[in-house]
Amino acid sequence: MLREGGTERPFTGAFVHHSAAGRYACRGCGRELFASAAKFDSGCGWPSFDRAVPETVRLLEDRSHGTVRTECRCAHCDSHLGHVFHGEGLTPENTRYCINSVSLTFHPAPDTP
Ligand SMILES: [Zn+2]
Repeated sequence: MLREGGTERPFTGAFVHHSAAGRYACRGCGRELFASAAKFDSGCGWPSFDRAVPETVRLLEDRSHGTVRTECRCAHCDSHLGHVFHGEGLTPENTRYCINSVSLTFHPAPDTP
Protein backbone atom coordinates (compact mmCIF):
# COMPACT_ATOMS: atom_id res chain seq x y z
CA MET A 1 0.00 0.00 0.00
CA LEU A 2 2.64 2.52 0.96
CA ARG A 3 4.67 1.97 -2.16
CA GLU A 4 1.88 1.46 -4.64
CA GLY A 5 -0.08 4.60 -3.97
CA GLY A 6 -3.24 2.68 -3.19
CA THR A 7 -6.19 4.01 -1.29
CA GLU A 8 -7.99 2.04 1.38
CA ARG A 9 -11.76 1.81 1.31
CA PRO A 10 -13.54 4.61 3.15
CA PHE A 11 -14.54 4.12 6.79
CA THR A 12 -12.32 1.05 7.09
CA GLY A 13 -9.16 2.63 8.48
CA ALA A 14 -8.14 2.33 12.08
CA PHE A 15 -7.84 6.07 12.61
CA VAL A 16 -11.00 7.36 10.95
CA HIS A 17 -12.78 7.96 14.24
CA HIS A 18 -9.68 8.06 16.35
CA SER A 19 -9.60 11.19 18.49
CA ALA A 20 -6.97 10.60 21.17
CA ALA A 21 -4.34 13.27 21.74
CA GLY A 22 -0.97 12.49 20.28
CA ARG A 23 1.02 12.46 17.11
CA TYR A 24 0.70 10.59 13.86
CA ALA A 25 3.92 9.40 12.26
CA CYS A 26 4.83 7.89 8.92
CA ARG A 27 4.60 4.10 8.99
CA GLY A 28 7.47 3.92 6.55
CA CYS A 29 10.10 5.90 8.42
CA GLY A 30 8.61 7.04 11.73
CA ARG A 31 8.82 10.76 11.08
CA GLU A 32 6.09 12.76 12.74
CA LEU A 33 3.67 14.08 10.13
CA PHE A 34 0.50 15.27 11.85
CA ALA A 35 -0.56 16.32 15.32
CA SER A 36 -3.89 15.17 16.70
CA ALA A 37 -4.82 18.86 17.09
CA ALA A 38 -4.89 19.12 13.29
CA LYS A 39 -7.25 16.15 12.89
CA PHE A 40 -10.90 16.82 12.17
CA ASP A 41 -13.93 14.84 11.12
CA SER A 42 -14.52 15.62 7.47
CA GLY A 43 -17.02 12.83 6.94
CA CYS A 44 -15.02 11.58 3.96
CA GLY A 45 -14.19 8.25 5.53
CA TRP A 46 -10.45 8.74 5.89
CA PRO A 47 -8.45 10.41 8.63
CA SER A 48 -8.37 14.11 7.78
CA PHE A 49 -5.98 16.79 8.93
CA ASP A 50 -6.04 20.49 8.13
CA ARG A 51 -2.29 20.94 8.36
CA ALA A 52 0.87 18.86 8.44
CA VAL A 53 3.99 19.34 10.51
CA PRO A 54 5.98 21.82 8.39
CA GLU A 55 8.27 20.30 5.77
CA THR A 56 7.38 16.71 6.57
CA VAL A 57 5.21 16.04 3.54
CA ARG A 58 5.67 16.68 -0.13
CA LEU A 59 2.94 17.27 -2.65
CA LEU A 60 2.86 16.21 -6.25
CA GLU A 61 0.39 16.14 -9.07
CA ASP A 62 -1.48 12.87 -9.49
CA ARG A 63 -3.12 12.42 -12.89
CA SER A 64 -4.36 8.87 -12.30
CA HIS A 65 -8.03 7.91 -12.63
CA GLY A 66 -8.65 10.61 -15.23
CA THR A 67 -8.57 13.50 -12.79
CA VAL A 68 -5.93 15.79 -11.40
CA ARG A 69 -5.41 15.53 -7.69
CA THR A 70 -2.63 16.45 -5.33
CA GLU A 71 -0.86 13.46 -3.90
CA CYS A 72 0.72 13.71 -0.47
CA ARG A 73 3.90 11.77 0.25
CA CYS A 74 6.29 11.58 3.17
CA ALA A 75 9.09 14.05 2.42
CA HIS A 76 11.61 11.76 4.07
CA CYS A 77 10.95 8.26 2.70
CA ASP A 78 8.54 9.06 -0.16
CA SER A 79 5.79 6.76 1.08
CA HIS A 80 2.35 7.50 -0.33
CA LEU A 81 0.16 8.97 2.39
CA GLY A 82 -2.99 10.17 0.69
CA HIS A 83 -4.28 13.22 -1.13
CA VAL A 84 -4.68 16.90 -0.33
CA PHE A 85 -7.70 19.02 -1.16
CA HIS A 86 -8.04 22.78 -0.94
CA GLY A 87 -10.87 25.23 -0.83
CA GLU A 88 -13.56 23.10 0.78
CA GLY A 89 -14.07 25.51 3.65
CA LEU A 90 -14.19 22.76 6.25
CA THR A 91 -11.69 24.36 8.59
CA PRO A 92 -10.03 27.76 8.89
CA GLU A 93 -6.99 26.29 7.15
CA ASN A 94 -9.24 25.49 4.19
CA THR A 95 -7.11 22.45 3.45
CA ARG A 96 -7.81 18.77 3.94
CA TYR A 97 -5.09 16.16 4.09
CA CYS A 98 -6.98 12.95 3.41
CA ILE A 99 -4.66 10.23 4.67
CA ASN A 100 -4.78 6.43 4.69
CA SER A 101 -4.78 4.98 8.19
CA VAL A 102 -2.39 2.28 7.06
CA SER A 103 0.18 4.94 6.16
CA LEU A 104 0.30 6.15 9.75
CA THR A 105 1.27 5.03 13.20
CA PHE A 106 -0.09 6.77 16.27
CA HIS A 107 1.90 7.84 19.30
CA PRO A 108 -0.24 8.89 22.26
CA ALA A 109 0.70 12.11 23.96
CA PRO A 110 2.06 11.90 27.49
CA ASP A 111 -0.70 12.41 30.03
CA THR A 112 -1.44 16.05 30.43
CA PRO A 113 -3.59 17.58 33.13
ZN1 LIG B 1 8.24 8.40 5.81
